[in-house]
Amino acid sequence: MTRIRTKICDRCQLQAEILYRIRIDKSGEWQFACPKCWQLLSQDNPDYVYGGTWKARK
Ligand SMILES: [Zn+2]
Repeated sequence: MTRIRTKICDRCQLQAEILYRIRIDKSGEWQFACPKCWQLLSQDNPDYVYGGTWKARK
């Protein structure tokens, strides 16, 4: 049995097989962002912190 796990991007609410765990403001809350949103959020953001990559298939 193959089980594909997906997660929802916290920004665009779309499912993705790869998500980046990031902090994007001073609240300290971790969020998951898909590659597309991650690119936007990581640019010109002094509060951006990278916390790892989550993959549906290991
Ligand atoms: Zn997204």
